Amino acid sequence: MRVMFAASEAMPLVKTGGLADVVGALPKALAKLGAEVTVVLPKYETIPQEIAEAAKTIAVTEVQLGWRRQYCGIQEVVVDGVRFLLIDNEFYFKRGQLYGYGDEAERFVFFSVAVLEMLDKLGRMPDILHCHDWQTGIIPFLLKTRYANRPGYRNIRTVYTIHNLQYQGVFSRELLQELLTTGDDSFTEDSLEFYGAASCMKGGLRFADKLSTVSFTYAREIQSEEYGEKLDGVIRQRSHDLWGILNGIDTEVYNPMTDPNLAVNYRDSLEKKRRNKLALQRELGLPEDAGVPLIGIVSRLTQQKGFDLIAEALSELLKERIQLVVLGSGEPGIEDMLRGALPANRDKMAIWFGFNEGLARRIYAASDLYLMPSRFEPCGLSQLIALRYRSVPIVRETGGLKDTVAPYNEYTGTGNGFTFGPPTAHDMLYTIRRALSFYGDAEHWERIVANGAKNDYGWESSAELYCKLYRELVS
Ligand code: ADP
Repeated sequence: MRVMFAASEAMPLVKTGGLADVVGALPKALAKLGAEVTVVLPKYETIPQEIAEAAKTIAVTEVQLGWRRQYCGIQEVVVDGVRFLLIDNEFYFKRGQLYGYGDEAERFVFFSVAVLEMLDKLGRMPDILHCHDWQTGIIPFLLKTRYANRPGYRNIRTVYTIHNLQYQGVFSRELLQELLTTGDDSFTEDSLEFYGAASCMKGGLRFADKLSTVSFTYAREIQSEEYGEKLDGVIRQRSHDLWGILNGIDTEVYNPMTDPNLAVNYRDSLEKKRRNKLALQRELGLPEDAGVPLIGIVSRLTQQKGFDLIAEALSELLKERIQLVVLGSGEPGIEDMLRGALPANRDKMAIWFGFNEGLARRIYAASDLYLMPSRFEPCGLSQLIALRYRSVPIVRETGGLKDTVAPYNEYTGTGNGFTFGPPTAHDMLYTIRRALSFYGDAEHWERIVANGAKNDYGWESSAELYCKLYRELVS
């Protein structure tokens, strides 16, 4: 089976969040099951130089966007056994960041059309074109409309995976109509139209042959008004085509036994894990104390991740005997909130603003507890990485957090973490205090950590489900 992934980020080339982890790891797991997977990405400036230099141009084409014809180079590079194709256009992608520009619609419509134009040039069509998130939602739409009668394209089946329903790529109808050179019929309610504007995400939801999202609970939640981001009706209509398939992590990449970023490599030894805590405390200027419970957070700083609860609970939390380490970047208001707490708590709190893969790993390794009070969470990889590094997650019961973290039950000895339901600072604080009380009891603590170690959250079983989904489509 030939599978092509189209996405806006993938490890180890470019990453801003969990999407990159998934698009980086799933192809390797699918390859082990016999699928031939290629990943198509924009050729961003931030791709590591050695990879960018190794990429060879294999074809050149042009992409029609409205009245403009734009250059499109197609480059090929193999990284860790995965074949990547890079869509090269310096005007759109040679920029300092992946996202956040005024011409986002144009950049990703260009990318979407380029992926489809490229297929003709490559000659061999994929059986499955697997698209991810709003940046590629226009691809299933185009395949069912403009490309429907183009020879070779008819047998391609599409899967569209929702990694986060909140980011939808909604633009003015005039803009998308101009970029796509389509008539009014594309902007009806059962097409791209979205409350008077146009939605790229809806292109994927309406036109892909199958839909998937990244946990069972999120698959159910997004069909409700509360979590549906105004697309719940569209998703409900397609509920029979929607699969919830839990994300895994690349257990070779996230491996505390071999991770070169750590002070001390370990598997299950809590003593060695504590040496990583001491090293991180030294690195961040915190008092060196192997016994103090260290709570870690590695996250985009957005409201989704429950930072309003953290803001409300922070001063109370910092009265506990803990250390709190936060690594993240995002909304300035959240940065200000964290920065504001720092001067009075320098012996208890350290913050690092920005993206830092090495430090992230050291925080997972050093922390005893990992806090993730998300308001919603499609899957969440951070809690899985935390578990892999033997850090105990404290999470809100939503989406993939609910599917992967089971609350510790001191009577039955089951559970790999601590969870709370209502999204309130009070419930979060209560749950953190409960976790801290068990931290003080070695027998309970070792059991909780050992429960977390029973599953390494690799990709094997989920990759099999994706294969099953693909097989249903091609048979
Ligand atoms: P999301 O995709 O919503 O951001 P996930 O938990 O699914 O959340 O995935 C986040 C991924 O990004 C994890 O691998 C996490 O370690 C990483 N990450 C988030 N923020 C940072 C940061 N500031 N520096 C390094 N890694 C980060």
